Amino acid sequence: METWYEYVGNVHMHTVHSDGEGTFADLALAARRAGLDFIVVTDHNVLVKDEEGYRHGVLVLVGEEIHDRERSPEVNHLLCLGIREDLAHLAHDPQALIDAVNEQGGLTFIAHPIERSAPLVPETYPWVDWHVRGFTGIELWNYMSSLREFAVNRWVGLALSFFPKYFVKAPLPEVLGLWDDLLREGKVVAIGGSDAHAHVYSLGPFRRCIFPYEFLFRTVNTHILTPTPFVGDVAHDAALVYEALRLGHVWVGYDLIGDTRHVRFWATGAGGIHVIMGDSIPVSRNVTLHAVLPRPARILLRKDGEIVHEVRGQTLTYRVLEPGVYRLEAWRRSWGKERGWVFTNPIYVEADN
Ligand SMILES: [Zn+2]
Ligand SMILES: [Zn+2]
Repeated sequence: METWYEYVGNVHMHTVHSDGEGTFADLALAARRAGLDFIVVTDHNVLVKDEEGYRHGVLVLVGEEIHDRERSPEVNHLLCLGIREDLAHLAHDPQALIDAVNEQGGLTFIAHPIERSAPLVPETYPWVDWHVRGFTGIELWNYMSSLREFAVNRWVGLALSFFPKYFVKAPLPEVLGLWDDLLREGKVVAIGGSDAHAHVYSLGPFRRCIFPYEFLFRTVNTHILTPTPFVGDVAHDAALVYEALRLGHVWVGYDLIGDTRHVRFWATGAGGIHVIMGDSIPVSRNVTLHAVLPRPARILLRKDGEIVHEVRGQTLTYRVLEPGVYRLEAWRRSWGKERGWVFTNPIYVEADN
């Protein structure tokens, strides 16, 4: 197996520059405590580029989450990463926005594409303009978004604020289904995001910061594989992060129920060909898929959304007979329920032409 360097990051979060409670220094410290290598800060409709750099040993990158502030109801939140200039003025035209990010060499991820409403937080911010083309991918699992559906009343809301881990199970099934549908049209990279704000809420006598940054940085993370290591130079290391995200050399890990470091999903074939998650391989190469997990789980291999192989354990091997989009999921029991643990980007096994 080739050598890949692995880094753990958290993408999608807010500071005092938009509606978050923390400063860049607060976020970097929380990221360090949670053991992250990088974070990508995405304040609403503002690009605070001069805050980029290494802080507390964490690579702090800055993108922005853009939406049209004039549009009601509020929809279409787009994470724009790796851009040089603020593009919020294009928010009214999602396709023009995506094109402009691409022209700057950046990446676009559709944030919380589907959200569930709940009595305590009835407003949702889904993506609605699905005619757009050319975006990099979607946020498969937004942790804050996956908490909101449980806020059915003040008391459950209070329990949720103390014990979120008992409630959250997995990415929304409708978002997983959406991803499989989009994958039929072409490559779509999935990432996970925390959407951390560290808001302070008052509930009766209680006033507390629910879901602090450090807690959220231990939940759903985006793990990347890079061909060369970080060297401590911001521009160099940022390029490695963005290239991994662009290529889909990425898995979404629910690290709260078990560290997902050292997950691997790769394909081998005739002629010594070797590719990893996010890559393509021709079916004529007699392809075999391989996976290794850091601890036992129920491992599902999906082809074009359908389960084609299932094992319990830490490894999976599968001889591919047909072209298709193959992605891996791993589920583990934790706190009384089976929960989604690992969601890799696919290996695209292509027909010969
Ligand atoms: Zn959003
Ligand atoms: Zn957000």
